Amino acid sequence: MKFMRFERDGAEFYGAIDGNFVKRIEGDIFGAYDVTGDKYPLSEVKALAPVSPPNVIAICLNYSSHAGESGSALPERPVIFIKATTSVIAHEGIIRLPAPAPDEVDYEAELCIVIGKTAKNVSEADALDYVLGYTCGNDVSARDCQRRLDAQWARGKSFDTFCPIGPYIVTDVADPQNLDIKSRVNGKVMQSSNTRNMIFSVRHLISYCSHNMTLLPGTIIMTGTPEGVGFAQDPPVFLRSGDVVEIEVEGVGVLRNTVAEEA
Ligand code: MG
Repeated sequence: MKFMRFERDGAEFYGAIDGNFVKRIEGDIFGAYDVTGDKYPLSEVKALAPVSPPNVIAICLNYSSHAGESGSALPERPVIFIKATTSVIAHEGIIRLPAPAPDEVDYEAELCIVIGKTAKNVSEADALDYVLGYTCGNDVSARDCQRRLDAQWARGKSFDTFCPIGPYIVTDVADPQNLDIKSRVNGKVMQSSNTRNMIFSVRHLISYCSHNMTLLPGTIIMTGTPEGVGFAQDPPVFLRSGDVVEIEVEGVGVLRNTVAEEA
C-alpha cells in the first residue's frame, strides 16, 4: 500500500495510490479505514506532507561515512534531536532560505520511519510492528547555526520548510536495511549509499527512542544521512535559490523540492 495525503477542491484527504490515480480513503489510516471507489488522476491533486507528525525525531551521525566527513567520533548510542513540526513541507513544496541564515543551507537524504501505533518501551524484536510505513525525508540544515553560531541544533534544523517529507507512506518495505538512498541537486548525485550502512538499525532506533519518549501514531523518525552532504564538499556546496533537490529511497519514492529565498 502507498498512502498519500492530498488536497482537492480545498479539502484534505488521505488516499491510496493506484497507478496514476489516487483512491480516496475514508477513516483513519492509523486505525480503521476504507479505500473508496472515488479516484482522481495524480496530476489533478496537490500532494500534502504524507502525515502531520506529532513529533519529528531525528538521529545524528547514523552512517559512519558521514561521521567521518563531519570530523565526529562514532556515537556509542543514537543521538537524538528534534525538528520543529512547523518545518514540515510536502513533495514539491518550496525550501525557503531563511532570512536570518540564508548562506549555508544544506541537504541530507534520509529514510523516514512513520510510526503507526503508540510505542513505549518496545523491544527490537517487536519494533517493526509499530511501523506504518516509510517515506523520504530531507533533513535541511543551516550549517552556520548548527556548527558555529548556536550551542545546540534546534534553530539550524527547524527553520520553516526545513523538513520536506514524502511523497508517499509506503507500507510494504520488505527490508528497511537494504535500500539504496540518494540525493541529487540539479540532477547531480551528491549522496549515494544504502541503508545497510546505518550504525543503528531501524529496529534499534525505534526501540531506543521508545524507551526515552512515547512515540505517538504519525511520529516521524529521520534515520540519519550518509556521506556527501554539502558542507563536506571541497569547496562546500550550499543550496541556492532555484536549485532542485531530490531525495530518492529505493522502493519508497522520490521527494523533490525547489529552493527559493524567503518570501
Ligand atoms: Mg540528519
